[in-house]
Amino acid sequence: MAKKKSKKKEKESKFAYKKKSAWDILSKNQIKNAFNFCEDYKKFLNEAKTEREAVNKISETAKLNNKKIKINRDKAVAIIVLGKKPASKGFRIVISHIDCPRLDLKQIPLYEDTSSNVALFETHYYGGIKKFHWVTIPLALHGVVIKKDGKKVKFTLGENESDPIFSVPDLLPHLSHKVQDIKKLDEAITGESLDIMVGSQPVKGDFPEKIKVSILEKLNKDYGLTEEDFISSELEAVPAYKARDMGFDRSLIGAYGQDDRACAYASLKAIMDLKNPEHTTIALFVDKEEVGSEGNTTAQVTSFLRSIIKEIDPKLDVDDAMLKSKVVSADVNAAVTPNYLDVFELKNAATLGNGVVMSKFSGHGGKYSANDASAEYVAEIKSLLIKGKIPWQTAELGKVDNGGGGTVAKYFSRLGMEVIDLGPAVMSMHSPFEITSKVDIYSTYLAYSAFLKS
Ligand code: MN
Ligand code: MN
Repeated sequence: MAKKKSKKKEKESKFAYKKKSAWDILSKNQIKNAFNFCEDYKKFLNEAKTEREAVNKISETAKLNNKKIKINRDKAVAIIVLGKKPASKGFRIVISHIDCPRLDLKQIPLYEDTSSNVALFETHYYGGIKKFHWVTIPLALHGVVIKKDGKKVKFTLGENESDPIFSVPDLLPHLSHKVQDIKKLDEAITGESLDIMVGSQPVKGDFPEKIKVSILEKLNKDYGLTEEDFISSELEAVPAYKARDMGFDRSLIGAYGQDDRACAYASLKAIMDLKNPEHTTIALFVDKEEVGSEGNTTAQVTSFLRSIIKEIDPKLDVDDAMLKSKVVSADVNAAVTPNYLDVFELKNAATLGNGVVMSKFSGHGGKYSANDASAEYVAEIKSLLIKGKIPWQTAELGKVDNGGGGTVAKYFSRLGMEVIDLGPAVMSMHSPFEITSKVDIYSTYLAYSAFLKS
């Protein structure tokens, strides 16, 4: 028997906009697909914890699917799928970034602290972190070392159950009152104090720095490294744990690096599944977004994009094709966080479980340094999402004048392209354990697929 409808239903205006839940919009089957989709997503997060590893994983996947790729210095990569229309009609481009906040080793990292009887690595943190997040968690070391003989040693230690892990020590509460607890949160733990403990067993004998000597001998035995080799290395300390389901209902994913590998994975899957698109499509994965996109592997290196376009059609008027191109800047937005509602303007904030987030603009106070997508382009993307029955929401990052942040969107709008930000909401963003919703990750994939086909 059908349940009697309550008579006292509040009148809703048919002219009002109401954000919808992805859990309502997606069918039972689609929700099942979303959960399945996230199984492989978690694997990707575990296997691509640095930009170099992400480039490896993305190009491997592309090669397996016979897709054309172009790599820039092992830290940025593009996947290209030719469209039915000529390249002169413009491109469909999805850009995500594959670098994440972390602790980088300094160039002369190793030292022994004789007072505490341990050896440590000096670090310089990378990107916008809250330093207290990074103490007392298990860390793995990933990266490359170029040895004196020019040979490249790839380094991953701390990911297998049997591997040792590393950690930044912190003070016990019994003794932290004066030096930490009464200080401001961002002053209590300093950048210089984020040193990683790497060993404690000295070599036998009576000379100074016996633990350091012992670690150097071990590094030489296992990897053929000398201390000088660290000068030409890029080693990153990242959380050693794996991506996990979260909640009794397993509806969430907790993992390191979801900003922005959620978007990288969703766009990788979207372009892998793409067949005979109308326009030539490019999925671009770039480096160093978290430090302002400075450097030769970043979104600011337009020569990389230009060289891709020249390869597609050497006779093409590149500037004209760029003016006709449409871009999705695939990046995450902040999810409304319980207990901290004050920093959000809730009508214009992203929430977990409401689908892919469309951000017309980013930047900070007064829309400075922002790409601000045109009303026309917003309308186009919005109708694409509605037609595709893809869960979506619109948001900006926090209350006006409350901070802010940017994405790579502006570097592509400068080239005359239409650009909009589109990606899932992330809670605890930039922490070593970021939280997303499975239906949002899946909605993001559906959104990129629909866009690339357009
Ligand atoms: Mn990001
Ligand atoms: Mn970020």
